[in-house]
Amino acid sequence: RQRQMCIRDRNNIENLNFKKDRKILMKDNDLLDPEDLESYIKTGGLKGFEKCLNIKEEEIIKEIELSGLRGRGGAAFPTYKKIIAVKNTDSDIKYVVANLEEGEVGSFNNHILAESNPFSIIEGILIASYIIKAKRAYIFVNHKGSLAIKRLANSINLIKSKGLFSYIDREFDIEIRRSPSSYIAGEESAMLEVIEGKKAFPRNKPPYPVNVGLFKKPTLINNVETLANLPFIIYYGGKEYASFGINNSKGTKMISLTGFVNNPCVNEVEFGVKIIDIIREVGFNSKGDIKGLLIGGPSGGIVSKDFTETLYDYDEIYKLGAMVGSGAIYVIPYNQNIVELVRYLMKFFADESCGQCIPCRVGTVKLTSMLDNLLINSQELPSNLDEINEFIMKVSLCGLGQAAPIPLITAMKYFPEEFKIKQYDKC
Ligand code: SF4
Repeated sequence: RQRQMCIRDRNNIENLNFKKDRKILMKDNDLLDPEDLESYIKTGGLKGFEKCLNIKEEEIIKEIELSGLRGRGGAAFPTYKKIIAVKNTDSDIKYVVANLEEGEVGSFNNHILAESNPFSIIEGILIASYIIKAKRAYIFVNHKGSLAIKRLANSINLIKSKGLFSYIDREFDIEIRRSPSSYIAGEESAMLEVIEGKKAFPRNKPPYPVNVGLFKKPTLINNVETLANLPFIIYYGGKEYASFGINNSKGTKMISLTGFVNNPCVNEVEFGVKIIDIIREVGFNSKGDIKGLLIGGPSGGIVSKDFTETLYDYDEIYKLGAMVGSGAIYVIPYNQNIVELVRYLMKFFADESCGQCIPCRVGTVKLTSMLDNLLINSQELPSNLDEINEFIMKVSLCGLGQAAPIPLITAMKYFPEEFKIKQYDKC
């Protein structure tokens, strides 16, 4: 509902124009009809791909390297390195997979991007496919994203009808695959399993998908936001892209702002802005006193309000114990019980765990019940909690288990008093 509100509510138009000159992906939203390819072309669309056809592949990769683009799905891995890894892997068949699963609570930006500017995603897929000489590309979309699916399918058909697919391979095509209703299906190797028709179980790594990916072939997996940045980078150049942002956080980031703000929404911000400015200017201020922030989605970190002056920057946020992640920022109201928030997130992980490995399957359930015991029975958390958290993070097979304790660890660091037992004595 929030997502639809952002796009359709005309009252939000001012909000969509927040620092418009510092946007890349949403800069032409006012002019763009997401179902009309000509409107995309009028705003400079497809010029990035056209430029690719006239320069060497090494030059294309160089521009991506100069841009400083890092994966926007959460891992923040340098995009050019992944592209080179797939390109250099010897195989007749290679794939591109665009991840639009976005099944985590509080994240909507990928869906908004696909609904508002689906052409940029398709053009980005074409550029990536052209570089690695992909035989086929897939877009893996959360099954609930019906409008995103409709507009992406329409964009594929319209761009295909221009004859551009044939520049990649005679048989090249882009397929949309719907994901099942499961958070873990968005984990990159689980996503490959689902596309292959199997259950959403993450794979052991190594081997990594760049070498052994979809149908055992080298596969370039990127979040749709990462791919959608490629047309700008190629057309305007990597240096121009890198003029946005700061330090090792170049460009812009689509964010999902939720919680105790007057205007929960999706927007695009330049890296390097203060988080407090995001709350003020994108969220139209908070609704009252805030207690803190959950930065980076459910597996992000919970930090106190003392850190709202922090710059929105991969490294600065990492120093707090949180992460940029997929771009979700949840503003915690002054009266929210932090233990209840952590318990909610832990229960989410316990419910979404695929159950394949014991530390995650058992650990997330145990941590949930420990938090229940604190909340309901005033029972202290165990003295060896640090060891339990460390074990779950080190031994779990995939990112879900590896990150599940982070909200708990950060919340205990920034809100130690909330975990003291006396607080719940008379609840
Ligand atoms: Fe499944 Fe959790 Fe293990 Fe990941 S860490 S494979 S979600 S059980």
